[in-house]
Amino acid sequence: MSFIDKISSGVTEAGNSISQKAKDISEQTKLSGEIAKNKARRDEYIMQLGEAYYQAHKNGTEGNFDELMEQIDLVDGILDNLKEGLYQIKGIVICDQCGTEVPRGSAFCPSCGAQVRQPASVRCAKCGTELAAGSRFCIKCGARIE
Ligand SMILES: [Zn+2]
Ligand SMILES: [Zn+2]
Repeated sequence: MSFIDKISSGVTEAGNSISQKAKDISEQTKLSGEIAKNKARRDEYIMQLGEAYYQAHKNGTEGNFDELMEQIDLVDGILDNLKEGLYQIKGIVICDQCGTEVPRGSAFCPSCGAQVRQPASVRCAKCGTELAAGSRFCIKCGARIE
């Protein structure tokens, strides 16, 4: 490889990682937006639940909270998925004990020293990329995950 080739391939590599970064950032922004939206929805349901409880209590009636509880469970599930996606892009896990963002692969939390729960993940046998558990194809190289 000539000197010029090396330079230009170096530039291309840098260019690629920059566009990957840009992609990650726009994906992060999207996920953060979705998380905020669902958090607002959750707050809204909690408020409705509080109001329903108050009314039931005040009127001495049973009140039916099942539907609202179900909605909140649903939103919680969505939030978990969105957050996991965000953490994956950021390459972090959240410490169960203190909520600190800890780099993936850490055994202990740098803030409180608690053991870090490793996220369920699979590794691509071909390129070694860490993928969410249940992935069927590698997001980097497209290899099928066994
Ligand atoms: Zn911690
Ligand atoms: Zn791969």
